[in-house]
Amino acid sequence: MATMTSLIGLINKIQRACTVLGDHGGQGMSLWEVLPSVAVVGGQSSGKSSVLESIVGRDFLPRGSGIVTRRSLVLQLHQIESGTEYAEFLHAPRKRFTDFAAVRKEISDETDRITGKTKQISNVPIHLSIYSPHVVNLTLIDLPGLTKVAVEGQSETIVSDIENMVRSYVEKPNCIILAISPANQDIATSDAIKLARDVDPSGERTFGVVTKLDLMDKGTNAVDVLEGRAYRLQHPWVGVVNRSQADINKNVDMIFARRKEREYFETSLDYGHLASRMGSEYLAKLLSEHLELVIRQRIPSIIALINKTIDELNAELDRIGRPVAADGAAQLYTILELCRAFDRVFKEHLDGGRPGGDRIFGVFDNQLPAALKKLPFDRYLSLKNVQKVVTEADGYQPHLIAPEQGYRRLIEGAISYFKGPAEASVDAVHFVLKELVRKSIAETQELKRFPTLQTDIATAANEALEKFRDESRKTVLRLVEMESSYLTADFFRKLNAEPEKITGKKSSAEAEKNAKTESPSGLGEAKRSLLSNFYAQVGRREKERLSAMLDEDPQLMERRMQLAKRLELYKSARDDIDLVAWK
Ligand code: GDP
Ligand code: MG
Repeated sequence: MATMTSLIGLINKIQRACTVLGDHGGQGMSLWEVLPSVAVVGGQSSGKSSVLESIVGRDFLPRGSGIVTRRSLVLQLHQIESGTEYAEFLHAPRKRFTDFAAVRKEISDETDRITGKTKQISNVPIHLSIYSPHVVNLTLIDLPGLTKVAVEGQSETIVSDIENMVRSYVEKPNCIILAISPANQDIATSDAIKLARDVDPSGERTFGVVTKLDLMDKGTNAVDVLEGRAYRLQHPWVGVVNRSQADINKNVDMIFARRKEREYFETSLDYGHLASRMGSEYLAKLLSEHLELVIRQRIPSIIALINKTIDELNAELDRIGRPVAADGAAQLYTILELCRAFDRVFKEHLDGGRPGGDRIFGVFDNQLPAALKKLPFDRYLSLKNVQKVVTEADGYQPHLIAPEQGYRRLIEGAISYFKGPAEASVDAVHFVLKELVRKSIAETQELKRFPTLQTDIATAANEALEKFRDESRKTVLRLVEMESSYLTADFFRKLNAEPEKITGKKSSAEAEKNAKTESPSGLGEAKRSLLSNFYAQVGRREKERLSAMLDEDPQLMERRMQLAKRLELYKSARDDIDLVAWK
């Protein structure tokens, strides 16, 4: 018995975990669907709620004539070692009910909250847990009664609505059916038996319960049914005597009702010989034994499902990242690792593998030559301007052989036109690099969870790029100046031989060559040492600053916490099952 109690107890634990964590439903086989539960099925006022109550041993369900149960109630009984018993609703967690009259009222109120004070039904179940030293661990489901006609105030479809709802529970192969038939009706017309036979033709999960034995006409009895002759079921029939409406009105309590029930069977002329196999307590025992059997059969598949869930949880935890380490050195290491991850992505953009580097090539291959071609050399090298420059260069002493001074001025002036496009190229490359930094941060998976660090890296990288741009600007301007400040004799010789080469074409080719080999655009620098400065800064930072940099998105932290909690739950469930499974 101890093993059984702990076994079912832990199953309840898993089941509760599934409910709390919203794990039921969804796709595939959920834990919820693997584990057994017990549902009461029967016509209206057949005594379903009464039977459930007496299995629990507490008064807490709304009962009475008419359609009282209008939403399904998923009830989990948890046996606790000691202490006062209490109840908890899933819709009002942390609120402990110790007064069971208040539980009944809350069930009514919660029913009305969804359906209004109508005779309508709702598919949304109410989840209730009862913790008590006096219960056997079970999950029970109270369902609205099957009906044959819609009454005033009910929709036309109510008959099939109720049947569909009831079916949705009892169809599941893990649902144990308590088919409730009142003794004062012919068993042949029992709605409960009809439905049970439909969803469980072999009868292996159907328990026939006959209520209202006390209300049978004088001179008739249900012995034929209870001994299985009227209708054969795999499991034995159990007869019960619940409290009558008069008892309920008089507030007859459960203990008294049970004693009366026992007395009824023991003293009954008709059922005395069956007394040890009749009554609510016996029904509860029978159910528990059956449940244990079923659960034992299911253990391998339950463990498989738990393992699968654990794997999934672990995989998701891996995906969103494990918690950040607490000590400074480890945090520094993490930050540097994350920076390196970013750096890798950034380099892939430059070197290929990811797009972006090609746009820099485009700056030198298209943009710069195009800009150089647009330079106003036609005007600058026009006869008039050449004449003007040459004349002005000679001053009051005109040149004798060749106007060398004039040429020099002319060439110097022409070359300084290259400054504009050269600077523009630096800027263009700068903007491409900045954009690539932005993209690389967004594309670095590892960084996703650290918004603060993302900003920090962006700032550091952009500062570095800013600096590289300034330096590159100076460098390209100096290059242009260098080109213009020393003109060799060779240059003049070539100039004479191929005069057309002084036009934009030659110079653009040269500038291009320079740009690519010298890379005066900050590109090489960006590749080599984009974050060097940042590394140095981070290395000097206090632990508090480091933790702040690793601040995560609160939603993500919350998600991780939940995953970890579920993981713990499933792991402990697995350990518990391992412990009891092989006894
Ligand atoms: P449900 O509609 O199937 O849930 O049935 P309830 O449990 O609400 O019971 C309907 C009515 O039948 C209530 O007034 C109960 O007191 C009464 N009742 C249920 N079982 C018995 C029984 O075994 N004997 C007597 N005398 N009345 C019963
Ligand atoms: Mg009911």
